[in-house]
Amino acid sequence: MKTLIDRLEGGESLSRGEFKALLSVEEPYLYERARAARDRVYGNKIFMRGLIEFTSHCKNDCYYCGLRRSNKAAQRYRLTKEQILGCCESGYGLGFRTFVLQGGEDAYFDDDRLAEIVSEIRRRYPDCAITLSVGERGYDSYLRLYEAGANRYLLRHETANSDHYGLLHPPELSPENRKKCLRDLKEIGYQTGCGFMIGSPGQTLEHIVEDLAFIKELKPAMVGVGPFLPHSCTPFAREKSGDLQLTLRILAILRLMRPNLLLPATTALGTLCDKGREMGVMAGANVVMPNLSPMDVRKKYMLYDNKIATGSEAAENVADLKKRMLAAGCELVISRGDYIEIQR
Ligand code: SAH
Ligand code: SF4
Repeated sequence: MKTLIDRLEGGESLSRGEFKALLSVEEPYLYERARAARDRVYGNKIFMRGLIEFTSHCKNDCYYCGLRRSNKAAQRYRLTKEQILGCCESGYGLGFRTFVLQGGEDAYFDDDRLAEIVSEIRRRYPDCAITLSVGERGYDSYLRLYEAGANRYLLRHETANSDHYGLLHPPELSPENRKKCLRDLKEIGYQTGCGFMIGSPGQTLEHIVEDLAFIKELKPAMVGVGPFLPHSCTPFAREKSGDLQLTLRILAILRLMRPNLLLPATTALGTLCDKGREMGVMAGANVVMPNLSPMDVRKKYMLYDNKIATGSEAAENVADLKKRMLAAGCELVISRGDYIEIQR
């Protein structure tokens, strides 16, 4: 098994059989190797990002998501530019040097409005990274936002398999366009993140092997991977949650495949299990993204049921998060935490 991990670290692709074999490697060993790979590139540092969930309006209808347009029970809100800047101000004081603006695909935030917000954050916080996560847009829109000062973009590919993509999304959303967006973002110069849910309805191990192959080819700077969690007002209300151990194993495999990845221990992982983020870090993750949104909207950005937004998930609670990371052998740092390019 050691040779399989060595080969993975050496940059070799996995066959389906090898991937399945890796899924049965004794966990402590797999995680130990993943942590060592991370530590060689980034040390035992954990980078924190302040997540600002600035709109819960969405024109899309992804079957898995609580913000989908067909969910008439969803509570919709939009933050004003001033509210967003207020989040950045308090975040900066708490030690955040990356702000992540995430939201549904909301036409209100057209290029003019979004670029204005981005350029104002850039002007006020020249030492901070600005990450956007606002779904699919055109090349020119991405370019404009980049020129306004955004540095990074998170757009999970959701699944690399077209048939599976069709199971998770209505026909108007295409996997080709999703992938085109990711390539556009990379070409423009964003530190780009893709990613997928573990245990989304219809997902097979073969699909995950395809996801890993897609990631290998795309060479993203970041990969967001967390368990699927059902939302009661979606077509997937009765589906079961993604598996904790499988999620952790995939995190470790990603770390070994690409030691320089920025790999979050996601909110979904922390929702699935109280110690989820610590376990993610123990499996090789090196990013956490606490919630910086105004208190009164946190409960309204419900991608899935019971999404955590308080306790150590709240940006105000950095001290608690620091303790948790320390328990996982890592140091939570005040840093932009940029992607490090390595040759391999
Ligand atoms: N609208 C943007 C960003 C917000 S959604 C976009 O779709 O890219 C951010 C991510 O949340 C999605 O990419 C999806 O992978 C994740 N997500 C949505 N619903 C989820 C669920 N039920 N369980 C786990 N993750 C979910
Ligand atoms: Fe909208 Fe993103 Fe949810 Fe899809 S996953 S419905 S695009 S917020």
